[in-house]
Amino acid sequence: MRAPWRVAVVGGGIAGLAAAVRLRDRAPAGTEITVYEQSGALGGKLRTGELVGSAVEFGAESFLMRDSAGGESAAVALVRRLGLGGRIVHPTVGQAALVVDGGLRPIPGGTLVGVPGDLERVATVARPAADADVDAGRPLLGARDDVSVGALVRARFGDEVVDRLVDPMLGGVYAGRADDLSLATTMPALARAARVEHTLVGAVRAAQAAAPRAPGAPVFGTLAGGLSTLVEAAAAASGATIRRGAAVRELTPTGAGWRLTVGPTREAELVDVDAVVLAVPARPAARLLAGCAPEAAQGVGGLDYASVALVTLALPEPELPELSGFLVPSTEGLLIKASTFFTTKWGHLRRTDGLALVRASVGRYGEERQVQRTDEDLAATVHRELSAVLGVALPAPVAGHVQRWGGSLPQYTPGHADRVAAARAALRAGHPTLVLAGAGYDGVGIPICVRSGETAAEEIITALGGSGT
Ligand SMILES: Cc1cc2nc3c(=O)[nH]c(=O)nc-3n(C[C@H](O)[C@H](O)[C@H](O)COP(=O)(O)OP(=O)(O)OC[C@H]3O[C@@H](n4cnc5c(N)ncnc54)[C@H](O)[C@@H]3O)c2cc1C
Repeated sequence: MRAPWRVAVVGGGIAGLAAAVRLRDRAPAGTEITVYEQSGALGGKLRTGELVGSAVEFGAESFLMRDSAGGESAAVALVRRLGLGGRIVHPTVGQAALVVDGGLRPIPGGTLVGVPGDLERVATVARPAADADVDAGRPLLGARDDVSVGALVRARFGDEVVDRLVDPMLGGVYAGRADDLSLATTMPALARAARVEHTLVGAVRAAQAAAPRAPGAPVFGTLAGGLSTLVEAAAAASGATIRRGAAVRELTPTGAGWRLTVGPTREAELVDVDAVVLAVPARPAARLLAGCAPEAAQGVGGLDYASVALVTLALPEPELPELSGFLVPSTEGLLIKASTFFTTKWGHLRRTDGLALVRASVGRYGEERQVQRTDEDLAATVHRELSAVLGVALPAPVAGHVQRWGGSLPQYTPGHADRVAAARAALRAGHPTLVLAGAGYDGVGIPICVRSGETAAEEIITALGGSGT
């Protein structure tokens, strides 16, 4: 192996940047890391912007503090590794609501993404089906099986629990439907428990017991100053050469490593490296893999994505309830899918001038046309629907911002994890120095994508001949 190693990270989202930091920490000293990002900015779905002088998230807002085994999440560990631990803040108001029959009801606690372990506790919002969750003498799921979350929960708890609780909660994260989304990928802890337990109540309780939470321990955190500080700190700590506006268009195996074709066709640049972390969404990854690893391309290329728009409004002295926000079941017929009252939820965003910052997310899988409305239309509709849900005539906004995230949220159907495992096995067998990382493969969310990038970096280090540290 030529020394020093040359590693390309394709994709400057959080997965790619976490991979770059891990390479810097664990690969031999002197390793040349280059991050290629096609857009003009690093961070991917992490983007902090500015509205009326406040640092506001125009993309991802916060991260889970714990992983599904109860330990510190990979996002928190990375934040600390980058020296940003002191900036972690938690919601000052954690209670959110659900829209039920046009009005707000507090989201019942004690559920796993809306799936209850205690049916009594959700009775204010949904009546579970009576006696359907019976022990049939075998685990709910076979050892290698996967189902949609909706199929499992409907069969055991009935439609109302899915339509009023699980669907809006999953929709808030994936902009997709419980009836389409894979249990194994979107709720891995519940899937693990369902392979052992005979009832859904039993599986939810087992999953909750496997990741005990200290009473009062915060579930979410974010960074004062915005999540872009994480992006910038990761880029700096990686010591990588950062290439913005540099789309990788082709990956060609050279025998010893890889040749990247970077940039526009007429002025394409060819770069030789020893290994590649491919940290781009599944669709562009499939295009890059089609020529060199068709089997892997097929495994990841079928993943579909939902588009969403985030509408943030600055409202002068509105009457807002003491809630972090609300979720809207699709059965309510509203454009808004979820809303966050930024200045109520986050103490560090509170203002002294009476302005409130409210964000609404719009767009569900299969309804892309809603996201294509004009900014003015989206802002006006959100304003009207917020007033209706809150039962007050909200004042006119003094400022607003619309951020569209086209094709941004993966819709993992049942069997996704197996398809990705097969794609990775094909790469390992044929091209061990090309590794996939990010939300297209391992799941949505900052902690999952950080861990995915770090794991990819470790695999590259192993493939190139082990750690130098
Ligand atoms: C609106 C929204 C809100 C969210 N909110 C939260 C939240 O509050 N908390 C949370 O934990 N998660 C949240 N998520 C999910 C989370 O943000 C993502 O799962 C995660 O950021 C994905 O990271 P990634 O690095 O895998 O991909 P991305 O962020 O998509 O990064 C991939 C990068 O690759 C680049 N790229 C693509 N093709 C090429 C190419 N050919 N060459 C070079 N570069 C290329 C892209 O430009 C992009 O920058 C949210 C997602 C969305 C869309």
